[in-house]
Order: sequence, then C-alpha cells, then structure tokens
Amino acid sequence: MIITLKKGVTKKEFDAIIERIKKLGYKPHVSRGKDVTIIGMIGEFAEKYKDSFEAMEAVEHISEIQKPYKLASREFHKENSIIKIARGVEIGGKKIHVMAGPCAIESKDIVFNIAKSAKHSGATILRGGAFKPRSSPYTFQGLGEKGLRIMKEAGKKYSMPIVSEAMTIKQIPLISKYCDIIQIGARNIQNYDLLKEAGKQSKPVLLKRGMATTIKEFLLSAEYILSQGNYNVLLCERGIRTFETSTRFTLDLNAVPVLKKLSHLPVVLDPSHGTGVREFVATMAKASIAAGADALIIEMHPKPEEAFSDGPQSLLPEQFAKMMGELNLIAKAVGRELLD
Ligand code: PEP
Ligand code: MN
Repeated sequence: MIITLKKGVTKKEFDAIIERIKKLGYKPHVSRGKDVTIIGMIGEFAEKYKDSFEAMEAVEHISEIQKPYKLASREFHKENSIIKIARGVEIGGKKIHVMAGPCAIESKDIVFNIAKSAKHSGATILRGGAFKPRSSPYTFQGLGEKGLRIMKEAGKKYSMPIVSEAMTIKQIPLISKYCDIIQIGARNIQNYDLLKEAGKQSKPVLLKRGMATTIKEFLLSAEYILSQGNYNVLLCERGIRTFETSTRFTLDLNAVPVLKKLSHLPVVLDPSHGTGVREFVATMAKASIAAGADALIIEMHPKPEEAFSDGPQSLLPEQFAKMMGELNLIAKAVGRELLD
C-alpha cells in the first residue's frame, strides 16, 4: 500500500512511520515528489495495517496498489522516472539517448574504432558484451574481465558511460566495478536470484524483456530489482518470439505505450535484436522514437562480416551516422531532443 504523508511532517514523525513499517517486517520505499512524500509499504498482507496507519497524525491517506507489481507501477510513482547514469547522462527526460557499440567486445582496436564513430555521430552511451549468452556453447563466449577493461578505457577516452551484461550473480560486482549500467539479458529475465543481486547494488540496470515474456511478467521481474532498493531500472524491449520468421524476433512496438501507461520507468528499444536484420534497424529505430521510447540500444561494427557475434544486424558506422540524423528529425517531431 502507499502511505501519503501530510505536507510539513517533521523528521521525528517520518522516522516513526519508517520504524513502524520495519518493525512489522516490511521494507519502506520512500519517494519524495515536489509537494508530497509517499512511502511504499510493500509485501504480502500489508493492507491489513491500513486502518492503523491511517490513524497516524502525520498520514494524509493510504491507497492500495492494485497491480501485482507495486514499485514499478504508475500507481506508486505518477511522474516519469528520470534515471541518472554517469557523466551527466540521464534517461527518461526530454533527451533521447542512443547506446551504441559492438555486440561483443572483440579487441581494443575495434572497440576504440566503434566508440569514436558512435560518439562522433551523437551516441551518448557505449555498449559491448564481455560475457556473451550465446545460443551455441561452441561460439565466442566473450573476453570477460579483459573486455571490461577495454570498455572502461574507451568510455574514459570518449567520455561515454558504458553498459555491459552480467549473466551470473558472481559477475554483478565485476560489471558494477567497471561499468555504469548493468545489463541483464533476455535469457535471464526469470533468473530471480540474479535480479535480486542487481537490486542490492546501486548501478542502474538495463533489464531486457525475455523473448517469451508478457508485459506483466516483465514488470514483475523489474519489481524484483526495485524491491531490493535499487530504483534505477531501465526497461528494454528487444523483440519477442512470434510465428514470423522473416525477422529474427518481432520488435513489440506496442510495448512502448503499454509500458508507459503501466510504469514510470524509462523504456529503451533494441531494434538490432528486435529485427536481426541490418536493413530494417534504422526504420524500426525511427518507429521506436515515434512511439515514445526514451532511449535506443544499437549494435554497430566496422566489418560486420567479420564480427564474432550478431554481424548480420550490426550497422556500419556510416549507416549509423545517417540513421542518427533521421532519428533527430523524428525526435523533434514528437517534442523530444536527440542530437545536441
Ligand atoms: C545483447 O545485447 O547483445 C544481447 C545478447 O541481448 P539479448 O539479451 O536481448 O538477446
Ligand atoms: Mn547482440
């Protein structure tokens, strides 16, 4: 349930409510808006304490969250959440951010080459996998920590926050040490222990929807992270499995307005995995922005035919540059900003 406090409550009154929630065995989640402070008291049977909290002097009113996901819901937080990343980058506001980079970190030369052209074209975040969730165990599995060191250096040189995937609980502190955003991949959307671990640290989490995950399940997975106290979650639509085989996955554009209605969290679209086909990436990137995405994540490579993974969906640097100019026009048309 949501406890809305009266304006001007004292610190003593606030602390008393927090203490009471903790004593009852619940975790308080505080959200301070411009005018009101609300406290989420989330957990099974929390509603049974409704009347007794309502009787407290400092409490304005109590409301129940109807949805199964609580902290992720718009009922809990009415305004769009703006997530602070690093180096002044914030996702969820007027500016649309584009994360770009190779699918996998392959070598220092390639990462620096891609970072340079991505930055030059207006990308603000560098992506690249050091631990790769490959469908086949015989394909390139990633450079591991060596790759993360390369990414960190490239991020520093080009002044870009970096994002990379953690596949296991053990990798969370490692990714968190080197990167500004921890990516949790589509295949791990229901790895609840991994989600909880990502919720116990404070780096923002890019949570990718599973290829067979409903929106409700997606938001419940986000709730696992939020429930541990990390409110910095970015929801990423990356394509779902349908009967269609002409593209690798089907980018679910419906997810954008649906997620925006149900949740306050920023929405990131991944047209690279969503289509799996280079030729379609820019078109779906434009559609994503028109639909209301807050950020995009795009794969690029200077020699896609030689890429260790996802070459067929990786844009050449010049294709990426052209796409960015077009995205800028769409962003303006929908009242957003993209290029400075
Ligand atoms: C990726 O971003 O390279 C990736 C593996 O994504 P997903 O988890 O969406 O397949
Ligand atoms: Mn990939």
